[in-house]
Amino acid sequence: MAIMLHFTMHSSNKNSHTNGEFMMRNDFIYSPMAVGHGDEQAAGSSEESLKGKYPCPCCKCITLPVPPEEAIAYICPVCFWENDVFISGDDEESDENHGMTLNEAQANYRKIGACSPDLLKHVRKPKPEEVPK
Ligand SMILES: [Zn+2]
Repeated sequence: MAIMLHFTMHSSNKNSHTNGEFMMRNDFIYSPMAVGHGDEQAAGSSEESLKGKYPCPCCKCITLPVPPEEAIAYICPVCFWENDVFISGDDEESDENHGMTLNEAQANYRKIGACSPDLLKHVRKPKPEEVPK
């Protein structure tokens, strides 16, 4: 129950306009999920909002449930980069990430599999549907 509340709060005002505007991306997301996961969707509606639809700016895995510009303080579970809507470039220091730049985070991710060595213990491997194509 707690989990459900948490994520309902997170996505309530955002789902409405992700549906219409991004048809192409929805198609892209739908095809892999349609394969063999019939029950999951019905069973866990809170799980559904956890699913990524947009690529993480750092590791490029499809982990963001909303577009990056709306994913305020969303932490990617794969690289643990905290999405920063306030930075305008890859080499701008991100306050959300302790002054790390996106370039540094990407270099770390490529090297060690997390955006920062401190966060390596928190990250998880990308799910098959999250792996960038
Ligand atoms: Zn990431």
